[in-house]
Amino acid sequence: MTAVPDGPEDRLRRFATIWSRAVFPVTTTAATRPEFEAELLPLARRLSEVLRARAFDAEEAKALGAALVDAHCTDPEALSRTLDCVDAYLVLYCGQDGDQEALRARSARMQHAMAAGFAAALRARTLAEQEAIAQAALRAQGVVAEALHASEARFRAVFEGAAIGIGIAGLDGTVLQVNQALTRMFGLTDQALRGRNVLEWTHPDDAPQTWRLYEELVRGEREHYHLEKAFYRPDGTVLWTNLTVSLLRDADGSPQYQLALMEDTTERRLLNLRLRYEATHDALTGLPNRSFFFERLEKALNAGEGRRFGLCYLDLDGFKTVNDSLGHAAGDRLLVEVADRLQSCATAPGEMVARLGGDEFVALTTGPDTGHEVDELAGRIMNALLAPISIDGRELTVRGSIGVVEGPAGERSAAEVLRSADITMYRAKSAGGNRYELADPEADARVITRHGLTTALPAALERGEFFIEYQPLVHLGDGGVRGAEALVRWLHPQHGVLGPDRFIPLAEHTGLIVPLGRWVLEQSVRQARAWRERYGDGDGGAADPLRINVNLSPCQLTHPGLVQDTVEILERTGVAPDALCLEVTESALIGADDGLLKPLRQLAEMGVDIALDDFGTGYSNLANLRRLPVSVLKLDRSFTQSMQRFPADPVDLKIVEGIVSLAHSLDLSVTVEGVETGAQADQLRVLGCDTAQGWYYARPGPPEHLHDLALADATG
Ligand code: C2E
Ligand code: MG
Ligand code: MG
Repeated sequence: MTAVPDGPEDRLRRFATIWSRAVFPVTTTAATRPEFEAELLPLARRLSEVLRARAFDAEEAKALGAALVDAHCTDPEALSRTLDCVDAYLVLYCGQDGDQEALRARSARMQHAMAAGFAAALRARTLAEQEAIAQAALRAQGVVAEALHASEARFRAVFEGAAIGIGIAGLDGTVLQVNQALTRMFGLTDQALRGRNVLEWTHPDDAPQTWRLYEELVRGEREHYHLEKAFYRPDGTVLWTNLTVSLLRDADGSPQYQLALMEDTTERRLLNLRLRYEATHDALTGLPNRSFFFERLEKALNAGEGRRFGLCYLDLDGFKTVNDSLGHAAGDRLLVEVADRLQSCATAPGEMVARLGGDEFVALTTGPDTGHEVDELAGRIMNALLAPISIDGRELTVRGSIGVVEGPAGERSAAEVLRSADITMYRAKSAGGNRYELADPEADARVITRHGLTTALPAALERGEFFIEYQPLVHLGDGGVRGAEALVRWLHPQHGVLGPDRFIPLAEHTGLIVPLGRWVLEQSVRQARAWRERYGDGDGGAADPLRINVNLSPCQLTHPGLVQDTVEILERTGVAPDALCLEVTESALIGADDGLLKPLRQLAEMGVDIALDDFGTGYSNLANLRRLPVSVLKLDRSFTQSMQRFPADPVDLKIVEGIVSLAHSLDLSVTVEGVETGAQADQLRVLGCDTAQGWYYARPGPPEHLHDLALADATG
């Protein structure tokens, strides 16, 4: 184990030392090693900053890759060693106090960006160098006789000393002269190269235009061309180059020679291949990853008429339990074993297996008879999972659910196919798992997906597809209606009326909850105003003013505009703050700090009631209630439900009684939810609850229903 020195500055220096030792031998710098280290130190500091910054700065990481080139680290080996150093030591020396997993992921992204920055800078530099040499060569050939000697000498110096390969050939292709760099690149001697013909150097990867450009140049129809080209070396290995060929003319302007400048890009190409591999494969299992799979699927879907595809979408059953109970390391090993087994199921041409993420895998087939093949493939996968997997001496039984989609190319997009497979996989899961199901396009169309709802939400708010139902709150003592809770619904153009449980979580996830919540608040407060106008405002009238309860999501609590929006709405509608009650779920306030409670406290001070909704489901500490700015407890439905049995469980009754008396001693009133029978209502009244809500009184409904109830109440 390496001992890590103490202070952050010491550690940074140590990292720079390791880095400079690794890279120095392969640089072309004229500096000494300590000088070179001093040059790397500021780069190390910037690396450490990119590693620890809150957001990933890809441009800075690229700039650091480019800075390597400026520091004379132009050999691809210097990049390779730098990346190895960053990989092995940067997190160790510069990221001791952070989340190690996140830092490792950051370090990997940095390496990719650095490699890209390095390659771009190197390329720019090489092109500039090639240009300078070409200029020198062209100048050399154009000078007058007396200067010829001097200019030739200059040219020769450039020619021999250049780091890139230079060769001169006649117009028939015979190689006349090569420099040392070129002989090194080809692994051939000067003599062996001279006399060879350029035309022999074909390679199967030659771009189609390669030899056309060559012909045009030697005929004098073009001055130069530039391309990437591969050559075979005598030992059979392949040399990749960035090749620029220019035409040299004699004093009269007729074509005379061709001048080739080539840069060895073999290692950079290998590095790019490695990066491409890493970008397209899953690091844990080595299987192709999601983006690679999408590429293949898209190709299969664009394969043209008459072609078909088959897809198995596998999700392991109960994988979360393995992770939770045995730990992530065991979960990872299980995934690796599953990946290996899947791999062995799809070995025929046109078949591939990929890991989409987590415990989700896909297998694709594009063979001639996909209908039959995909069925067999799914069967093979189920079989492959049969044998238990042994991890840490335990035999784990692995089961999976598979959604199978098969069909012609050209009809659906990759995303649509995957969605269908996902829906089908869920169907297999809800049928008990450990099975595969075939996709059914009609069933697909009926399924309401989270994704579909999420994307439709913003437009739904604009188009006015939401509406509010009101459910009365009834006083248990006198049976009078005290107010109503506003409950939002979505009239979806295809799926009909959707309850809040379907879309509120999605709106919370996307942030739409803030405008939606504001809309609900405004509508409900207006409704309260309308009721008030109808039944008077309480003073002198028979009934107290009707109050309105509005639900708040946790995200709305943290939104900075909450207090101001509420005040504005109340002022605009002319409704007094004490006619409004905001319901916040208990779970949102567990462990809330003062910052989170501040807006609620401000609202409470203005006179708005705050209710703790679904109380009893969140295990909050009763003693904690004193800290919260709440004035109402809404007992969760589960308490009422347990009273449905007759006789009710005496322990449950005791609990409710205890909560009620505690609430009253803290000056909180108690509302019960989900009252469905008269017997429950009686029981809850005896237990001391103040207000009730539930189907026994009324289901949530349009605002007019409340009029009827309230009127019946006032006259009855
Ligand atoms: P909640 O605030 O606890 O609302 C009470 C839920 O119980 C409502 O379901 C209501 O229809 C239902 N309910 C009322 N009486 C009975 C009964 O006697 N028996 C049974 N079994 N159920 C009864 P709903 O309308 O589906 O609302 C579900 C939840 O969605 C609400 O729970 C609330 O947390 C949330 N929600 C509703 N509207 C909004 C809103 O505008 N904004 C936010 N943020 N959340 C909302
Ligand atoms: Mg509520
Ligand atoms: Mg509730």
